[in-house]
Amino acid sequence: MKDWIGPLLALQEVDMRIENLGIRLGLLPREEQKLAKELKIHHQALDAAREEYKKTELAIKQVESAISKFNEHINRLQQQSAMIKKNTEYQAMMNEIKQLKDNIGEEETKEINLLDQLEEQKSRYREQEKQFAAEQSNVNDEIAEMRQSRRDVEAEIEQLRGSRKELEAKVDATSLGVYNRLLKATGVPMARITPSGICGHCHLKVTPQTHTSAKKRDLVCCDNCSHLIYLDN
Ligand SMILES: [Zn+2]
Repeated sequence: MKDWIGPLLALQEVDMRIENLGIRLGLLPREEQKLAKELKIHHQALDAAREEYKKTELAIKQVESAISKFNEHINRLQQQSAMIKKNTEYQAMMNEIKQLKDNIGEEETKEINLLDQLEEQKSRYREQEKQFAAEQSNVNDEIAEMRQSRRDVEAEIEQLRGSRKELEAKVDATSLGVYNRLLKATGVPMARITPSGICGHCHLKVTPQTHTSAKKRDLVCCDNCSHLIYLDN
């Protein structure tokens, strides 16, 4: 029988590496989704900030339209005033005009406050917009990095699969069969035993016969956990 221990240990190392790289690959899409989700939340906040100042702009337009309606009304009354003969009617009209001017004053005060508010909201929005742009560029960089890392990992796995084939060719079919079955079942097929015969995987003592076989470097499994056992030279 060819020496199975060295090549299978090397094979196991390759398989562990492939396994770990596979796990890393599996995590990448979730990380990418997480980044995209965070960015979306910030985008929604930005939209909300824009919505806020748009509302204020609309309120200002409404105030301005109210003011111009009051002004039109005043103009109409002033044109009619020339035709009024009765003093009481004239006085009533003057009172109405005064009331309309008061209304205009109120609306103008409202407008000044709204304009202040709009300025604040817009500057807040611009600040958020700047932050968002920076964040977006960071996320894009991170995603590009992740994609590069995916390509690197995939290339390494490809390379490892090549090494795996070469190593497999160095082992006899029986050993390889046992190894591959254990790899599927346990993930880690090989276990070193101590010189006194304690299995490195299950930590139980193997039987004397098994211990003897291991000393002879025969293909042998732990009596308890079935891992392929070997002794260091
Ligand atoms: Zn064991």
